[in-house]
Amino acid sequence: MAIWTLVITGCGTSHGNPPWGVPELWSSDPRDLRRRSGAALLGPAGQVLLIDCGPDLMQQLRDPFANWDGVGYPEQCICRCDGVLLTHAHADHSHGLNDLRHINRLMGGGGITLYGSAEHLDEVQAMFPYCFGRTNAYYHQGNPVLQTQAVDIGQQYHVGDLPVTPWPVEHGPAGLVLAWGLGDRAGYITDAKTIGAQTRSAMRGKDLLVLNMLQEDPHVSHLNWQECYEVLEDLRPRRAVLTHMGYSVRWQEWQDRLPPGVELAYDGWHDTFEVTL
Ligand SMILES: [Zn+2]
Ligand SMILES: [Zn+2]
Repeated sequence: MAIWTLVITGCGTSHGNPPWGVPELWSSDPRDLRRRSGAALLGPAGQVLLIDCGPDLMQQLRDPFANWDGVGYPEQCICRCDGVLLTHAHADHSHGLNDLRHINRLMGGGGITLYGSAEHLDEVQAMFPYCFGRTNAYYHQGNPVLQTQAVDIGQQYHVGDLPVTPWPVEHGPAGLVLAWGLGDRAGYITDAKTIGAQTRSAMRGKDLLVLNMLQEDPHVSHLNWQECYEVLEDLRPRRAVLTHMGYSVRWQEWQDRLPPGVELAYDGWHDTFEVTL
């Protein structure tokens, strides 16, 4: 058995929150100051897997637990990446790709593999060809040198010794998103609007489940609270942590109303999970 740690390095929806330029929507609670969504999985031998690589990736890598004083050396920074589990190619999940070049440099330049669906990998390669080794003179000294591994639904992959399994969820009109099974007792679902029977079966009864929840009101492509609650009633995780929140979700207010075993993430939230596979 191995013990891994899951760190929510960002839990905000696509534009991050709270929004600036609208003072009445601001929050002074640091738990409402959310980077774009992502997570880091820290293994017992120092392995690091990332789930997504959104536009706040640099801050997520430098300060994964969101506890850095902003001045001194960030002792808990991430200097290694054994692989990136991509959920989909939306900007808030993939447009920090370029920041992987510094990690690659720290690791000696051997390259980092991005695991995702073939269609999402095609999208990110079309947007950022230089990140995948296609020559660009300007960046020739510091390319991220990413490799891709297209994954099959339900197939298990070992990434940094962690067995991971992709499962499909539907992002409303935005189409496919990959949820990831993490070992046998944890799972990560983001940007779901609906979750089919196959994925529900794979994600049922986990010790730790991360699930997206945007807001109270219905939304065309993300679970709102009512829909999220119905999923949790079905999947019955021992501990559920909600992520990818909108600005209207205030941590303290919601924490007081959530049922037992369900909590809101904040940037830097972390917990361990066992891997017995
Ligand atoms: Zn998103
Ligand atoms: Zn999305």
